Amino acid sequence: MSPSGAEFIRLIKSQIDEVDPSDVHSAIEGANGEGPGFVLVDVRETDEWDAGHLPGARHVPRGHLESRIEGAAPDRSQRVVLYCASGNRSALAAHTLRDQLGYEHVESLTGGITLWKDRGYEVEVPRALTKEQRERYSRHLLVPEIGLEGQTKLLDAKVLLLGAGGLGSPTALYLAAAGVGTLGIVDDDDVDLSNLQRQVIHTTDGIGTAKVDSAERAVRELNPDVHVVKYKTRLDASNIMDIIPGYDVIVDGVDNFPTRYLLNDATVRLQIPVVSASILGFDGQLSVFKPYDGPCYRCLYPVPPPAELAPSCGANGVLGVLPGTMGLLQATEVVKLVLGAGEPLIGRLLLYEALGATFTELKVRRDPECPICSRPPEDISDEEMGVFPDYEAFCAAAG
Ligand SMILES: [Zn+2]
Repeated sequence: MSPSGAEFIRLIKSQIDEVDPSDVHSAIEGANGEGPGFVLVDVRETDEWDAGHLPGARHVPRGHLESRIEGAAPDRSQRVVLYCASGNRSALAAHTLRDQLGYEHVESLTGGITLWKDRGYEVEVPRALTKEQRERYSRHLLVPEIGLEGQTKLLDAKVLLLGAGGLGSPTALYLAAAGVGTLGIVDDDDVDLSNLQRQVIHTTDGIGTAKVDSAERAVRELNPDVHVVKYKTRLDASNIMDIIPGYDVIVDGVDNFPTRYLLNDATVRLQIPVVSASILGFDGQLSVFKPYDGPCYRCLYPVPPPAELAPSCGANGVLGVLPGTMGLLQATEVVKLVLGAGEPLIGRLLLYEALGATFTELKVRRDPECPICSRPPEDISDEEMGVFPDYEAFCAAAG
């Protein structure tokens, strides 16, 4: 006669190793940031996990045990401690790992998280998304590189956009849609009819209103999760150190070199990564300047680029679609930096030529003689920030 369910679990439990919560607790407490010496795996369902789990645990629901355990514990000779609510499911899972999957040192936590809590030990409660957020970000939650953890990072992220113009418009819209929790927008301009050929965050109704207000309205309508911080001003030496500290990533869509130099020097000092793009005609370029991880803007342009390439010297033509292309590449780099995923465009300059439909990548190295990033951040003084050769003369030469 087959055993009853309860008898079967008792039988399995007699065959596997169990570990008392106090042993697991003291191993975690004594770890000093080096890890407790075992992999702790929660085999419960997602809603149970979301309600709280043991600190440092990884989540592999029992229903996905065979297919996902290697992601959590790739080394089969490693010690693995499994737990569930009361110790039954983890006992069965331990049996499977040992007898079917060849794990050599598997234990099940006696009494599960219930006994753990009864002993008064700490439980970690992951930040939960609301039902609406789960639905809004469901396509992110399905991507292994993002998931709940990544979405939480995005919601906690603070991104500053310099300019709500051609590049800032698509960037702001997509970052808002992706759920970046705080978007700062710096722009002192009003919406003009000639902007609408490319600055898609603004509408015909918004002509004459401040770009920061118009952008805020669009972001709110798209995603109420996003908090917009407006700066109706031009970024300059007098305000940069009031505006940029505290942001995780800065999106540079500024149209003039003096501000770029100033931004570079301040962000190197504060160690804030900058995703920088520029556009002219049918050409776009993009790079990520992550202080001390790669070159800075001054390593790339120790002297300003040729004057005829300085868009701020006058109104220049640009294909209306191009800032969309480059702005979305910027938004993608921002998301990668926030998630810590992939290979950001650090030390690489990406050139896009729309007429030929070509992308070219150039390597950019840190300049050991760079006046800014060759020195520690605390050595960069206020007086040095944004120092730029005679700009008026520079623009005049451009005609
Ligand atoms: Zn540098």
